[in-house]
Order: sequence, then structure tokens, then C-alpha cells
Amino acid sequence: MIHAPTIVWFRDDFRLADNPALLEAEKLHKPILCVVILDEAHLPGAAARWWLDRAIRSLDGDLRRMGGSLHVFRGPAGQVLTEIVSHTGADTVVWNRRYDLKGRETDTAIKAGLRAEGIAVHSFPGGLLHEPWRIRTRAGGQYKIFTAFWRGMRETHPTPFPPAPAPEKLAFAPLASPPAGLLPQQGDYGLLPTRPDWTGGLQEMWTPGEGEAHDRFAHFMRDGLDTYATARDFPAENASSRLSPFLRFGHVTAAQIWHGATEKGFPERFLMELAWRDFAWSLLFSAPDMATRNLRPEFDAMPWRDDPAGLARWQQGQTGYPLVDAGMRELWHTGWMHNRVRMVVASFLVKHLLIDWRQGEQWFADTLVDHDPASNPMNWQWNAGTGVDAAPYFRIMNPVLQSRKFDPHGAYIRRWVPELACLSDKAIHTPWETEIPRGYPAPIVDHRLARERALHAWKTMGSGAGQE
Ligand SMILES: Cc1cc2nc3c(=O)[nH]c(=O)nc-3n(C[C@H](O)[C@H](O)[C@H](O)COP(=O)(O)OP(=O)(O)OC[C@H]3O[C@@H](n4cnc5c(N)ncnc54)[C@H](O)[C@@H]3O)c2cc1C
Repeated sequence: MIHAPTIVWFRDDFRLADNPALLEAEKLHKPILCVVILDEAHLPGAAARWWLDRAIRSLDGDLRRMGGSLHVFRGPAGQVLTEIVSHTGADTVVWNRRYDLKGRETDTAIKAGLRAEGIAVHSFPGGLLHEPWRIRTRAGGQYKIFTAFWRGMRETHPTPFPPAPAPEKLAFAPLASPPAGLLPQQGDYGLLPTRPDWTGGLQEMWTPGEGEAHDRFAHFMRDGLDTYATARDFPAENASSRLSPFLRFGHVTAAQIWHGATEKGFPERFLMELAWRDFAWSLLFSAPDMATRNLRPEFDAMPWRDDPAGLARWQQGQTGYPLVDAGMRELWHTGWMHNRVRMVVASFLVKHLLIDWRQGEQWFADTLVDHDPASNPMNWQWNAGTGVDAAPYFRIMNPVLQSRKFDPHGAYIRRWVPELACLSDKAIHTPWETEIPRGYPAPIVDHRLARERALHAWKTMGSGAGQE
């Protein structure tokens, strides 16, 4: 007897292991059809699109080794799924959840539409430690402060569910001809830049995929144990896991990392970082417009500057502040930036240049391979002082002191700003105090004046002048 196939719709979960939707499909004992739908309304920024292209190819390779493949389509997801269902006679569709508002709305509508046609639809937890509505205050509300969220999580949900293994065997449904009107995307998924192709640095740095995610994690478990807690803030040290884009695309789940790290006795500090990611998603769940709205409404009156030239110099790593420029160039080249430096560059844009944090958020959304719609705005709002659990606006990071403290020998700066490589360990943080090497700009703003301007703006906004 020929069974109606089950469609497994992959979105942010390019993996075989710890994949509840795939496991459900396996349990149904019917042939499965694995699909990806490139829906313009849900595609990520440019750097993450490069990753998505590679993620698709990697999962396709893994499925081919099991005798199947990944079918890639382009178009509005609801329409595409409906056509695939009617073309194949599938009676079940499964997926792992996504939690941004647009994704949720699309998925709810698709679920209702398919069910109305008599198709079974099942959705499962995505790759967070806990569902974003799970960790709640005693009164049932959203935690506003991370430390309280962390405490609440440890008390009520001390460990995420143990991760499930990959299915050993899968039976795949054939798709001999594509559904009428639906062209399967083969070879070129239309996700990569062409003129010019700026992805060389990304290709040098990353190998997207589930296998690489686990290799990287194993390597980090072996070498990172002794250094993570002490060296993670030093960008030249390579002491953090660099798993963020692998988590973003679901090559590995937070639960897999949590359990692996706990078994190895990894410091709690690392588990807390994973919990920051969950905190971001829980915030986004209750404030879906977090990328566009100040969570502290008093900042709606902030007199941000309109400064396209300043924004462009920040984006290009040409501010004249070495640590800021190193970070922005690392981002442009690799699609990633060290966390400490992300904080420094964000603070610099918002406070030294007095540019609205949303412009920085958008630049990161387009250039980060790990960009996600929860972590990025939450961290921007944290650094801008506009968020719920945020560094107070009047605490203005000094980019020179940060540079001396976290890159004391200038190794990170030398790597990304080669014009400054000839300077001494002391002079490299403040090239303008000696002689600025050719090709490197003078500082775009004077730190002291910029600080005064930022504080003045904040005071005129009327948020408790003179509190410092
Ligand atoms: C302005 C700004 C924007 C950011 N935008 C993003 C983003 O779009 N996507 C993103 O994944 N991270 C973002 N971060 C958080 C953080 O910088 C990265 O998660 C981290 O640098 C990833 O490196 P890692 O994997 O080596 O981290 P590790 O230190 O090894 O931490 C392990 C994991 O914990 C999670 N994590 C760690 N710190 C944070 C944090 N502050 N917030 C949320 N999750 C965290 C990440 O998934 C990370 O992979 C942003 C930070 C700032 C200051």
C-alpha cells in the first residue's frame, strides 16, 4: 500500500539530530518529503543569506547520505505548501516553531488553511532551551531583568529536555516532477551576492552545517574549559565558542549545548550566555516590535542626529578609534564580531555619534551571519539604554579604555586595522597622540566632547538630568 507522504518543512533548523519535527515524521512510518521554501517575506539579511545557502546545501548532503534530498522552492510559503500538498497527496505537514511575529502569523495562517483542507499539521519546539512563554514571574508575567529570568529558570525549569538523537533510517517520498507552476530551485538558490561577490571572507571563516557545528562544539569543550570564564572578553583570544551562527540556523540546539557543557563541568557563565539567548526570545515574544520600538518610551524624545556620513564611517571602520574600526572591519570581513567589541561599537554609534540605535541594528541585521530578530534588538537596546534590562544611558563606554583593557597588546587591532600594525602596544590605542599612520583617519569625534553632547541630549530628553 502506498502511504501519503509527510512533509517536513525546514526553516531555522538545518539538522537531523534533536529535531522534533523530523522525529515525529519518522514515527509516523510514512515516506517523508523534506522541503525548504525561500519566501521573500521571511528571508534574512545579506550575510545570513549566504549562510542559508550553505545550510541548505549541507543538509541536502546529509539527507542524500541517507538516501533522500532536500527540495527547495521559492515563493509565498502558504501557496507553495498548498501546491506541494495537493501535488504529492501528503496528508501531514510538520515543522519546528519560529517565534518572531511575522513567522508566527504566517505559520498560524498556514496551519489553519491546511487543517481546513483536512491535512494534519503538527508544530514542535524550536531550538531554544525552553519555549519563549515558559519562564514567567510568579505572577505569570514577563521577566524584565535577566538575572531574575535566570534565577526563575533555574528554579522552575533547571534543565532543558535531553536532546534526541538523529533518526537512524528515514524513508523518503520521491518527487519525480515538480508541482505545476512551482519551479524547484536547483544549484543557484538566488541567495548569494554577485556584483560584487563580497563573501570571500565568510567562506574563509565558516563551514556552515550540522557536522561542523558539532566538531566546533567538541573542540570548544576540549580547549575552552579553562579559558572561557577569564578570557572570553578579550577579542584576540578566540576564547568564546563562536557557535552563534550554528545556533541561529539550528545546526545545533541550545539543549544539545547545555547538556554537553554540563556533562563537561563547563562554568555556569557559559550556560548563562545560552540563557541570554532565551531571554531575548522571551522578550521578543512579549514585545514583537522590539527592533523598532524603544522599550523605554521616554527615549522616543531623544534628539538623535541625522548623520549619514558618520554612519557610513562607522559602517566602514573609519572612525579613527582603533578598537571600533577593528570590530566593524571584522564584521564586514567575516560576518561576525566578538561580543565585547559589539558592545563597544554599539555604544560608540549611539553615544559618541548620537545616531539612533535602530540604524545600527539594521546594519548588523544585514551583515551578521548570526543575526536573529531577538538577540540583535535586545542587545542594541541594552547598549543604547533604551531596553528594559539595559545599561544606563549615562554610562558611556570610553573606547580607548576598553581598547587598553581588552586588547592590551593591540593584537586584535593589528589584525583588522593593518595601517596601525607598526605602532607600539601603547600608541596603538590612540594613534592621534603620536603620528597617525598614512591611510588611517583622525578621530571622527573627540571623546570628551562627544560624551558631553550625549549627556546633554539625554538630559534634554528629560530622563532625570544630573543622575550620574
Ligand atoms: C549590539 C549587539 C548585537 C548582537 N546581535 C546578536 C545577534 O544578532 N545574534 C546573536 O546570536 N547574538 C548577538 N549578540 C550577542 C553576542 O555578541 C553573540 O551571541 C556572541 O558574540 C556570539 O559569540 P559566541 O558564539 O562565541 O558566544 P559564546 O560566549 O560562546 O556564547 C554561547 C552562545 O550564547 C549565546 N549568547 C551569548 N551572548 C549572548 C547575548 N548577549 N545575547 C544573546 N545570546 C547570547 C549565543 O547563542 C552564543 O553562541 C549581539 C550582541 C551585541 C552587543
